Amino acid sequence: MQVGIMGGTFDPIHIGHMVAAETAREAGGLDEVWFIPSAMPPLKNGEPSASGEQRLEMVYRAVDFQPYFRAMDIELERGGVSYSIDTVRELQALYPGRAFTYIIGADRLNDLGSWRRVEELAELVSFIGLERPGHLIDAASLPSFISGKLRIVQMPQLDVSSTDIRGRRAAGRSIRFLVPDKVYSFIIRNHLYET
Ligand code: ATP
Ligand code: MG
Repeated sequence: MQVGIMGGTFDPIHIGHMVAAETAREAGGLDEVWFIPSAMPPLKNGEPSASGEQRLEMVYRAVDFQPYFRAMDIELERGGVSYSIDTVRELQALYPGRAFTYIIGADRLNDLGSWRRVEELAELVSFIGLERPGHLIDAASLPSFISGKLRIVQMPQLDVSSTDIRGRRAAGRSIRFLVPDKVYSFIIRNHLYET
């Protein structure tokens, strides 16, 4: 079984994440995509705005009734800084026989070289990279051992980010349709990102 891993802070999860996962699933012939919210992202400044519990709940809501998508709490359960290499080792022990592919947007792909133990990671998984607005993939700057393990896939470009969504909420602007409906109702009901 081929499994895509969609890692992120998901603060909140939005349509960019959903379309990226679906595009990678289709192009990569993946059987499932597992969304894994990080506890503490390694390369980001500052704490997530919503709690881990809330970010996980939003991911559960986004994948609810989706046949190929699952949410996993493995990084939140482990706690601390969430390194992909630790997650992959844990997943391989828990789910033998699966082949894992990391699905990564251009911004994160461009700093793949500074991921913890990335050479070891590249021996264990393959990568699907997706361009996103404002972030072209700079394939030349990637470590050479990645090249054979990376496939770049085109997706409909969606200029949406969690940062932008939090900013809209803080400014009292609408985020309707930028996040899945059940995520929208959760954000509104819990007054997330209002300040
Ligand atoms: P933030 O603004 O808080 O950084 P984000 O929108 O970048 O949030 P993340 O949780 O940081 O979302 O990203 C998780 C993964 O999804 C990353 O690999 C990122 O590159 C990818 N991604 C996020 N938004 C898009 C998008 N609009 N198009 C393609 N990929 C995306
Ligand atoms: Mg980001």
